[in-house]
Amino acid sequence: MHELGIVFYIIRDVKQAASENHVDRVSAVVMNIGEVSTVVPEYLTDCWRWAADKEPLLAGSKLKINMIPAVTYCENCGKEYDTVQYGRTCPYCSSGNTFLLRGNEVEIKEIEVPNN
Ligand SMILES: [Zn+2]
Repeated sequence: MHELGIVFYIIRDVKQAASENHVDRVSAVVMNIGEVSTVVPEYLTDCWRWAADKEPLLAGSKLKINMIPAVTYCENCGKEYDTVQYGRTCPYCSSGNTFLLRGNEVEIKEIEVPNN
């Protein structure tokens, strides 16, 4: 389960951003998670709960997941299509000359702080 490792990376980045912005409490972290990234959102939020509550900065904070649909681009015909449904082969021209445009993200989108 590599989600715990990802959570530690997120915590490290959030701590750094918090200290740069003089923030001492975080209420939520919003993540962009690509549909074909290897991250399982349920595991990620479970790991977050366990790890974040050990950090004073993050105790009680939520991990919110923003799923990014996977889209592949075909270099042969220039069309974009749904990666999960069609994989590496273009459904329009059957070319395999394709690459993933988006859907592999594991990144912090936003850090929310308590408003008081
Ligand atoms: Zn094509």
